[in-house]
Amino acid sequence: LSTPAQPSSGSYDVVIAGASFAGLAAAQALSRQSATRVLLLDRKPIGDGVTSACAAPVGIVRALGAERTILEVHDTLVIHTPGRSTAWPLPEPFCTFDYARLCRDAAAAAGVGSALIEFCLGSVRHRNGDVVQTSAGAVRAGFWIDATGPRAALAGPRAPRYAAFGIESEIHHRVEPGLHFYFVPEVRDGYAWAFPCGGATRFGVLSYRGRTRLAGALEQFMARFGARPGPRHGGYLATGWSGQVADDVFVVGDAAGHCLPISGEGIRTAVLAGFVCGTLLRGVLNGEMTRGDAARRYRTFVAADRRRYRALLFANLLLLGLPQRVLGPAARTLAHPALLRWFFRHYLGIFSAGAAPTSREASPAAASGS
Ligand SMILES: Cc1cc2nc3c(=O)[nH]c(=O)nc-3n(C[C@H](O)[C@H](O)[C@H](O)COP(=O)(O)OP(=O)(O)OC[C@H]3O[C@@H](n4cnc5c(N)ncnc54)[C@H](O)[C@@H]3O)c2cc1C
Repeated sequence: LSTPAQPSSGSYDVVIAGASFAGLAAAQALSRQSATRVLLLDRKPIGDGVTSACAAPVGIVRALGAERTILEVHDTLVIHTPGRSTAWPLPEPFCTFDYARLCRDAAAAAGVGSALIEFCLGSVRHRNGDVVQTSAGAVRAGFWIDATGPRAALAGPRAPRYAAFGIESEIHHRVEPGLHFYFVPEVRDGYAWAFPCGGATRFGVLSYRGRTRLAGALEQFMARFGARPGPRHGGYLATGWSGQVADDVFVVGDAAGHCLPISGEGIRTAVLAGFVCGTLLRGVLNGEMTRGDAARRYRTFVAADRRRYRALLFANLLLLGLPQRVLGPAARTLAHPALLRWFFRHYLGIFSAGAAPTSREASPAAASGS
């Protein structure tokens, strides 16, 4: 993909700020409306600047048209606590994937780079009505989608928001298959992880309280494996379910606080919300519904899972208050097949009204749950 520094025009039907998981999913949904002019804007070239450990359901990666970027498939989640490890079989396979290649494949599947879906390098600065000032010049649009991640550059962060912080390092080192989560003294207010990805492993640490000084904790954690961190990346994970449509801006992914409490999983929700949001705006541009209908349906889609979100948030607060020694028995209790089925049905049910692989086809009615 070429990365032009200027949009070809000053005016578009839709401008999507942020070309990562949420933004690319929205672009794919919009690309099915042949006459729509879309500008995708990001401060970095598509696929640059990974922050994530990039573990997600295989179905989500497939729905983005990026299956060949999968590095390793995982059928088990393993919870490690002091003195005990418990395996939770996953009801659907997850995978670790290559972020840069996934973004490029998802962009190609959306037709980014064509006359109708342009990409431009540019950083969003501020908005005044339907005009946004960017580092690439002023842009006007009928609709705006904010997919800029935790900072919500277009919509601006709204309360209540909670942000965890995590860092990780990928090195050539093998661990047992599975997605491994560790509740260890190195990060008492969070967890650590080891996600195998082909010949390498992604080791990371996360603080639920948003502590950013985690380099020492990562070093200590990796020393358990006789390993040392290589290059590091990371950032904030924004949760909070905080306002989905603000001043005509549709907000998706981490920008809307869609990252889930406890797990820190935000790729699945960003992609599913992106698909639904893009599908709804496509409906407006097709003349099938009004702007107000689309906003209402998008709010309804998100609100449908508010209770599940709050349950996760509550469990997260509880977990912060519990001593680590009780987490092992808790993980073992939850490993009972009936309980685990119940848990995953609710957990993986979040945003499943726009579920993969049919998300790109999701009708607005399905999206609204009506
Ligand atoms: C260390 C770590 C590990 C994680 N591991 C996992 C995991 O294994 N699985 C999982 O599901 N989730 C994980 N997450 C969470 C997940 O990465 C996020 O929830 C997800 O990336 C959100 O996607 P998004 O598209 O909303 O935002 P982002 O992926 O943050 O993308 C935002 C995009 O907007 C662009 N942008 C930002 N500001 C501007 C601006 N002003 N102008 C223009 N463009 C801008 C950025 O360059 C970027 O491309 C992890 C997060 C961290 C920090």
